[in-house]
Amino acid sequence: MEIKISYKKDNRTCPVTVGEKRFGTCFTDKMFFAEYKDGKWQDPVVKNFEPFTIWPSALVLHYAQEIFEGQKAYKWSDGSIVMFRPEMNIKRFNRSAERMCMPTVDEEMFMKGLEMLVWEDRDWIPSEDAHSLYIRPAMIAVDPLLGVRSGSNYYFFIVDSPAGPYFPEGFNPVKIWVSDTYVRTIRGGIGEAKTGANYAATLKAMSEARAKGYSQVLWLDGVELKYVEEISTMNIFFVEGGKLITPNLSGGILDGITRDSVITAAKDLGLKVEERRITIEEVCNGINSGKITECFGSGTACVISPVGQLGYKGKDYVMNGSKTGPITQKIYDVITGIQYGKIKDKFGWIRKINTK
Ligand SMILES: *Cc1c(COP(=O)(O)O)cnc(C)c1O
Repeated sequence: MEIKISYKKDNRTCPVTVGEKRFGTCFTDKMFFAEYKDGKWQDPVVKNFEPFTIWPSALVLHYAQEIFEGQKAYKWSDGSIVMFRPEMNIKRFNRSAERMCMPTVDEEMFMKGLEMLVWEDRDWIPSEDAHSLYIRPAMIAVDPLLGVRSGSNYYFFIVDSPAGPYFPEGFNPVKIWVSDTYVRTIRGGIGEAKTGANYAATLKAMSEARAKGYSQVLWLDGVELKYVEEISTMNIFFVEGGKLITPNLSGGILDGITRDSVITAAKDLGLKVEERRITIEEVCNGINSGKITECFGSGTACVISPVGQLGYKGKDYVMNGSKTGPITQKIYDVITGIQYGKIKDKFGWIRKINTK
């Protein structure tokens, strides 16, 4: 499908110094936009980043029929512009679309749209170490009607946000609160879809966790509050001996692309990886007995977030003296090394896009 390019250069200065901006607060001057009507995607265009109009009665505003993705592009020191495993995001987006009764996006139009937008935005991609262009594709139902049903009109759009290092103060472990009251998703629910509604469900627990001095929430399963699932925006890994343990994809957990990359990289480093159910009790006992020595979260925005401490039912469980452990560091170094072109990409994760 032909994608039009139609924008005027916008001389906004945001971001002046990306590193000083909070994640996701500045955007480039362009966006990709396409509309679904009469049963097909129409008029895809790369145009100026600008507001669009929807009716106050638009379905998405009332019943949350929305999905999104999060991915990144990088500018290497040799000038190459690359994306990290974008085909995985496209496939996951379409799985989310199916779960939320939305039309899938033609994979070729999606990839072309990503590449064209990133290419047009190439001067906005910061090239400093640990910087990137965060890419946010999303789809919303825009039919103006209040009946509870899936729409037949949708907007699909992609916006780009130049991003500084996720941890401006360094790669330091965070404290995480294990929720033993709220749940993020339930068996048979939409936990597996990347949809805004799952995030709305986490806000209350997140604000309570922050008030207690923790930076994130670790969710347990929504049926028994017994099995570890994931952190609100990240999958979770535990290190026990020379082995990684991560919850299996149960249906309630998001199938993280970083999670998959961690598993592949860890196996390549000679580590064993177990994907299985793990109870919070096993985790707490493992930390107390010294068997579990490290824990980290994985997600596109931060890549790897070391976890130094878990708070559960009024007790704190500290790992590795709240310092980043050696295995966490090693895996971070491998994945970011490939993303920034410093390590050979033997897994085929990098897609170069400036080879016109
Ligand atoms: C996006 C997301 C992740 C991380 O997925 P990546 O593909 O690694 O970025 C984990 N959990 C949830 C709930 C998410 O929305």
